Amino acid sequence: MDADALADLRAFDRGHVWHPYSSALAPGDPWVVESAQGVRLHLRDHDGRALDVIDAMSSWWCAVHGYRVPELDAAVRDQLDSMAHVMFGGLTHAPAVGLARRLLDLAPAGLEHVFLADSGSVSVEVAMKAALQYHLAAGRRRTRFLTIRGGYHGDTFSPMSVTDPVGGMHSLFRGVLPEHVFAPRPPAGLDRPDDDAELVAWEQTTRELFVQNAADVAAVIVEPVLQGAGGMYVYPARVLDVLHDLAREHGALVIHDEIATGFHRTGPRWAGDRAEHAPDILCAGKALTGGYLTLAAMLCTREVAEGVSRGEAGGLMHGPTFMANPLACAVANANLDLLAFRDTPAEVARIENGLRDGLASATALDAVQEVRTLGAVGVIQLREPVRVAEVTAAALARGTWVRPFRDLVYTMPPYVTSDDDLATLTAALVGAVADVHG
Ligand SMILES: *Cc1c(COP(=O)(O)O)cnc(C)c1O
Repeated sequence: MDADALADLRAFDRGHVWHPYSSALAPGDPWVVESAQGVRLHLRDHDGRALDVIDAMSSWWCAVHGYRVPELDAAVRDQLDSMAHVMFGGLTHAPAVGLARRLLDLAPAGLEHVFLADSGSVSVEVAMKAALQYHLAAGRRRTRFLTIRGGYHGDTFSPMSVTDPVGGMHSLFRGVLPEHVFAPRPPAGLDRPDDDAELVAWEQTTRELFVQNAADVAAVIVEPVLQGAGGMYVYPARVLDVLHDLAREHGALVIHDEIATGFHRTGPRWAGDRAEHAPDILCAGKALTGGYLTLAAMLCTREVAEGVSRGEAGGLMHGPTFMANPLACAVANANLDLLAFRDTPAEVARIENGLRDGLASATALDAVQEVRTLGAVGVIQLREPVRVAEVTAAALARGTWVRPFRDLVYTMPPYVTSDDDLATLTAALVGAVADVHG
């Protein structure tokens, strides 16, 4: 791209194109990506210079095998030779059925039905709708969801309504968003004994809250073990079992939102595998297509599926135009094959070690409150909000693309990141924090 074309592209972008959570009055100044290969993005900096940087974000946690993956490229090309898309009402196809089969093979015990949605948020909408329909069909008017504070479930209205009420957008949409039941955020840390005092206190408070609202609660919805966009916050798996037991006692369903955590991001295939009980409903997305195309899935038990179907409506009342898009399903199949073919748990364990070693020196910085790692997730939490533009620029100068938020400089690198690249990436994050926050 020559300098004029680059300037023109950036000017039109600033003038007319929305970016995530962006302002038309004070547009950001995004870098232009020309291509990507392996774990690297090929960028143009603001002076038009070409820049090759390691993607510490896996494109918002999706691109687990990196970019231009031969097997995934081939899956899309091959699928194009038969069809890019067909409607899913009244029709079916091998890519979708193959994907459903693979997903159910990988799913926690008891999940037997798959709804293929076109984004993570939509899969959460569908999960919540299924829970409501399940109760309605049995003559129960349960319209509320119970969750824990600090979560994130997507940006459409139902997911937003169970996203953290403070960090989310509840005050902005007061009166429009339904008001659900928020239990306190559980105490931090994966490895707390079951009789840990803070955990026991949390359990007590949550039990009381559940009892007060029991007649209204259709389902519990949580991100198992790791709250992602709500703050990269890790909590004990015991919490999942407590919530599961409460839900069972009071006739509510359990939804695990594994959109961020699925496919080994935190170590096990599903973050919820650390708990004793499987959920009634599970949402998967993000890494499902290896970051190639937008696709998500809602999986549920036979009991939920049949319960929903016994209702007056006669079925699950959702049907996106691009439901089960064949291109997306084909690349998801190739992605799941690749994850199985590569020793993904070992790769994630290797990444975890690299992150732990590489980020450790950040604890010595005054600005740093805590450094934590879980699977292929590494987090540097500051004592103050991150100066995002400056940290991003400092990390780019050190060869790494990172997109911090709030007080968090974090990475969820592609699983295929080499040890050398991991060392560069972690040094860039620690170095950028040191440069900017001292
Ligand atoms: C990203 C995310 C979503 C929303 O997925 P989209 O594909 O962005 O709609 C929902 N839940 C969790 C836990 C997520 O991380």
